[in-house]
Amino acid sequence: MFFSQDCTLCRPHLRCMKPCAKLNCPVRHLRRIIYYLDSAIHTLDICIYFFTFTELAEAIIRAKNRNVVVRIILEDSMTHTDKSQIMNFYKEGIKPVFKSLDVLVHHKFVIIDNNIVMTGSINWTKSAFFGNFENVLVTNESAIVKPFVNEFERILTMLTATTTETNSETLDIH
Ligand SMILES: [Zn+2]
Repeated sequence: MFFSQDCTLCRPHLRCMKPCAKLNCPVRHLRRIIYYLDSAIHTLDICIYFFTFTELAEAIIRAKNRNVVVRIILEDSMTHTDKSQIMNFYKEGIKPVFKSLDVLVHHKFVIIDNNIVMTGSINWTKSAFFGNFENVLVTNESAIVKPFVNEFERILTMLTATTTETNSETLDIH
């Protein structure tokens, strides 16, 4: 999927969610991404730098409500903005993982049922979908999916384990 500056023109028909005739209509792309999210049966692993797009957050909340295990990693510095979907996730019992690091968690990928990966340049914000040059690749090629699954687990472990490591280091001093 490709997005470009022409996508700005499609903003008005986001409300009805009907794509126009344009091959790269961002509403068509958005519907396709939502379709994949809605197809999740077991797990949804999401690692997105900046997440503000309500329609995509709603698809994730729908997944949670049909008992899909939802795990979200966000970039710490981007969770403090008013537009972040983080509070909506908390309200629905989803706890995104984020931590202040020396570097950015700049990924934009989603893994559905450990089987499909959606990845690319695009942040999950309305402005990225409607006006930027962006790309999203969707694949179920296991040679690509597996490294993404490993990467997600690696980052999640790192972000959730640091506190414990610090404690054990403190203990070592004693
Ligand atoms: Zn359109």
